[in-house]
Amino acid sequence: MDITPLFTITYGLYIVGSRRGEKLNGQIANTVFQITSEPVKVAVSINKTELTHELISETGKCCIGILSREADMPFIGSFGFRSGRDTDKYSGIPHTLTPGGCPLPEKNILSYIDLEITESLDVHTHTVFIGRVTDCGIMAEGIPMTYSYYREVLCGKTPPTAPSYTAAAGDMKKRPEGKEDDLMKKYVCNICGYVYDPQQGDPDGGIEPGTAFEDIPDDWVCPVCGVGKDQFSPE
Ligand code: FE
Repeated sequence: MDITPLFTITYGLYIVGSRRGEKLNGQIANTVFQITSEPVKVAVSINKTELTHELISETGKCCIGILSREADMPFIGSFGFRSGRDTDKYSGIPHTLTPGGCPLPEKNILSYIDLEITESLDVHTHTVFIGRVTDCGIMAEGIPMTYSYYREVLCGKTPPTAPSYTAAAGDMKKRPEGKEDDLMKKYVCNICGYVYDPQQGDPDGGIEPGTAFEDIPDDWVCPVCGVGKDQFSPE
C-alpha cells in the first residue's frame, strides 16, 4: 500500500515535559490533540522506548509546550534525536516549572497545557496518553510551529520513534540546491538533517566561517543532535 496520502495529515510540534524528582525531561512530539471539551482532555502519543513514556507512566503527569515558529533547529534538536537517559535535556536551556510541576522552556514556547493522565491506550509501539487539563497558560505571542513548517522550511527530519516516521519517503526530503564548488560543499547530518554550510561554519561549535567540512576537527559534533562527523553525507 502506498501511504503517501498520510503525509497530507497536518500536525503541530510540541515539547512534552515530564519529571521524576530532580530529573527533568522534555521531548519533541507532533501527535498532540484535544479530545473532548467537557471535561477538557488532550491526548499525546509517545513511543514506549522513550524516557518520557517511563516518566508519564510513573507520575501520571506531563505538560505540553506549544512551540513557536521562531524556534530554530538547534533548539528543537536539544529536545529531539537524543534520549533524556543519556543527556540532560534542560542543560543550558532557561526553563520554569508549570503549576503541574513539569519543566517548560522559557523561550520559543507560546503556551503550555498541564495534563493529569486519566486514560491510556496501548497501541503496539506507542501509548496514547489522554489527560485532563489541570492548567494552561499563554507564554508569548506568535505563530505556532507546524510539522510541515519544520519539514519544509527548517528541513527537519523525523526520528524513528515518532508516530509519523517512515524509513522511505517520509525522510527523503529534497533540500534547496546551492551553488558550490567542492571545497565549499555542504554536508547533511544523516540523523537530524542539520546542514553544515562551510560559508557559515559553526561559530558556536568553534568552527570559523569558511571552513571546509574536511577541515573540521574530528571531535566536532553535530550542533543539533550531537553525532560525529562520520554521520554526515555530502548534500
Ligand atoms: Fe545531527
